[in-house]
Amino acid sequence: MSIETSLSLGLDNGQPYPYQRVELVEPDWTRFPGWKDVTAEQWASVQWQRAHCVKNVKQLRELLGDLVDDRFYADLERDQAERATMSMLVPPQMMNTMAPHAAVGGPGSLTDAFYADPVRHYMIPVFSDRRTDWSSHPHATRDSLHEHDMWVAEGLTHRYPTKVLAELLPTCPQYCGHCTRMDLVGNSTPTVEKLKFVAKPTDRLASMMDYLRRTPSVRDVVVSGGDVANMPWARLEDFLTRVLEIDNIRDIRLATKALVGLPQHWLQPEVQEGMARVAGIARSRGVSIAIHTHANHANSITPLVAEASRAMLDAGVRDVRNQGVLLNGVNADPHALLDLCFALLDGAQIMPYYFYMCDMIPYSEHWRVSVGDAQRLQHHIMGYLPGFATPRIVCDVPFVGKRWVHQLASYDEVRGISHWTKNYRTSIEMDEGHDMSSTYEYYDPIHTLPAEGQAWWAEHGDLDTSALKAAEVAEASRRMAALQAY
Ligand code: SF4
Repeated sequence: MSIETSLSLGLDNGQPYPYQRVELVEPDWTRFPGWKDVTAEQWASVQWQRAHCVKNVKQLRELLGDLVDDRFYADLERDQAERATMSMLVPPQMMNTMAPHAAVGGPGSLTDAFYADPVRHYMIPVFSDRRTDWSSHPHATRDSLHEHDMWVAEGLTHRYPTKVLAELLPTCPQYCGHCTRMDLVGNSTPTVEKLKFVAKPTDRLASMMDYLRRTPSVRDVVVSGGDVANMPWARLEDFLTRVLEIDNIRDIRLATKALVGLPQHWLQPEVQEGMARVAGIARSRGVSIAIHTHANHANSITPLVAEASRAMLDAGVRDVRNQGVLLNGVNADPHALLDLCFALLDGAQIMPYYFYMCDMIPYSEHWRVSVGDAQRLQHHIMGYLPGFATPRIVCDVPFVGKRWVHQLASYDEVRGISHWTKNYRTSIEMDEGHDMSSTYEYYDPIHTLPAEGQAWWAEHGDLDTSALKAAEVAEASRRMAALQAY
């Protein structure tokens, strides 16, 4: 649905978007044949959830049986073999939010609903979802944000002047098809051999702590991965407690999509009690600790997600915020974005914060939207939410960082090339006398361009879309080894 079409709907209350309070619902998991006997007690157990994740086509077939046609399974199999940059890992909680309202009937009755479903669209991508003309942008790269270039210790990215990103581990309880850290996160797929951290986990965390202690200009640590929900709680608590001992650290943000994908993790008594201890220390030292989660569609926000969010707020976390990703087929529509924001805010006390444009990783063109469309979406969602809860749509520009989509310096809409500036030096520019006058480019998906622009790219684009180039892997491995030696 185009942005314009979407806005012409819903004029029943005189507004383009007719706000209505919606009660959250946990879809009935027993509608899937494989879970017809699963009890509420099993469902609430994080161990049961982890043990019953869907990891491959065979397990999906065992769960759904013939409710979904063979052509869907074949489509998925082909994607896994030829396109997928992430291996499959879907917790039951997330699986249950796919086609939640579709009528379950005879064989094939869920096929259309599965093809159309927004959560399925990014968690279980199939071959026919992807573009066949420009499946990857010529400028797509495995580490599109150049985070490895800016590592100051293995897994510690120092890109902005006062904040760092600490990738504690390379795994998550769920794998999203569009993951921007596809270079490192998850298991290798037939198309992408993942990089591996070189140092031992304890040594890596020690190097990160060392950097934080000797760098007083850093006040803000995003503790991420992967997903911190995959770190044993005792180890995470130990790391956080040590970070809280550093005087200059004033903000800590824990990145976990599991709050949405596996809320059962955050509802464990051990985790709630541990978070209360950490939040207590943070409060006594005047440090703000928050959770950042990642929901892309309103269907993902269920009563269990709301319960997990409330549990974390009750434990003393200052805020739970959402950083979604703007994705075609999922949420790139003003109604879908506003539905999600209101479900987060009204239903789960989660603050809508950012929507990131999908990064320029390989095979992501069917998900990405142009900067122009992102600007229009931002315009259309203004004025409905409280100002403090109106998310900004941001473009993560390579070598720059997050920029609000209206902040570009210039924009060639025919070729889909936007130019961006920055007002600080990243860690790799400190020694170069960098004058900060450079501009940096971001590229729209080519299939969204007018014919003239598409013709230009056909002539000038490197049509070798095997963007998972071996040289890139070799270079990244070399950098990791160099860091290790350092
Ligand atoms: S949860 Fe985050 S890090 Fe993990 S696969 Fe999804 S996007 Fe990537």
